[in-house]
Amino acid sequence: MTQPLFLVGPRGCGKTTTGMALAKAIDFQFVDTDRWLQSHVQMTVAEIVEREGWEGFRAQETTALQAVTAPATVVATGGGIILTEFNRHYMRNHGVVIYLSAPVSVLVDRLEATPEEGLRPTLTGKPLTEEVQEVLAQRDVLYREAAHYIVDATNPPSQVVEDILGILAQAAP
Ligand code: ADP
Ligand code: MG
Repeated sequence: MTQPLFLVGPRGCGKTTTGMALAKAIDFQFVDTDRWLQSHVQMTVAEIVEREGWEGFRAQETTALQAVTAPATVVATGGGIILTEFNRHYMRNHGVVIYLSAPVSVLVDRLEATPEEGLRPTLTGKPLTEEVQEVLAQRDVLYREAAHYIVDATNPPSQVVEDILGILAQAAP
């Protein structure tokens, strides 16, 4: 199995953490769409959004997604990648899409413990719990629609990786 693996889910669900561990476990490359885009255009996500608005950022994100999609690669996606219908279909058609699912309380705890790498501007300007709640309420259905598989991302990273390995073994024996 060398199909790309796409990890989707909200900020804090563990796409980067789990994705890096997963890539190591199966000897895949690891790429992060946000990081790829930022180094490609030499701007932070915040700067791109400031200059071009979220719409401009979303368009560039689609370019990034296509650029990083390659065999034997784990792709950690931006939390909003599933907002674009093209991206949902693209990921489903080019690899295996896994939703790292976690409830609002867990996401908030994690985000509070790691006060931002400065990567993402707030989406709503509201307090964190409200923002996470609103964003998840809007996106959960889209993560599910995009995903081939859903894993419980409240478990420790090693367990999440094990669960994904189990899924992949079953999917391609
Ligand atoms: P994402 O890339 O989805 O935004 P990160 O991988 O950056 O999420 O994780 C956000 C924070 O939560 C980090 O501090 C990370 O160490 C922590 N974290 C990620 N996954 C887990 C997990 N499964 N259990 C506990 N903490 C986690
Ligand atoms: Mg990340």
